[in-house]
Formats: sequence, structure tokens, C-alpha cells
Amino acid sequence: MKEKKTFELGDIEVKRFYFDGELSVDCPSCKKKLTRDFSQDYLSYPSFGGGEMLYFYCDECDCEFELPTTMKAKVEFEFDKDDIKKL
Ligand SMILES: [Zn+2]
Repeated sequence: MKEKKTFELGDIEVKRFYFDGELSVDCPSCKKKLTRDFSQDYLSYPSFGGGEMLYFYCDECDCEFELPTTMKAKVEFEFDKDDIKKL
């Protein structure tokens, strides 16, 4: 029988947290579409479940801005206790 165990993450002590994901917003000044690619541009000591400020820089109009977000992450194990293997 399959079972699931899920954990919501909080603050994690990872200096450089990379993952496959992108987030796009329009520059508030010139409306250029800006994308943060988290597989290249890491989050530092991410605070899941709390507030995370995302920083953006627009090279079109030399403007910086930040976007307040709430970020959530979970870890889920799915397993079948019948699959336990003795070593
Ligand atoms: Zn801009």
C-alpha cells in the first residue's frame, strides 16, 4: 500500500539554492519582460513559508526593483512499506 509523507519547508541553511524554475515580470519603468532563471541565479538562504524579496535588474533602462513574494516548498516521500529491503 502506497503511503505519502509530506513536509513543508521553512528556512533552510543553503547558501546557494538552485532549482529548475523561472519567474517573469515586466519592468515597472519600460515594461521589458525580465526573467529570473533560478537554475542560474540562485536564492541565498531561502525562507520558505515566509517572505522572500526577489531582486530584478533591467539592463534596458538601468533600473533595479524588487518583488515581495511568499515562497513555499515541500518535500514529499512516496513509498510502499512492502518494498523495504533488508541489507
Ligand atoms: Zn526597464
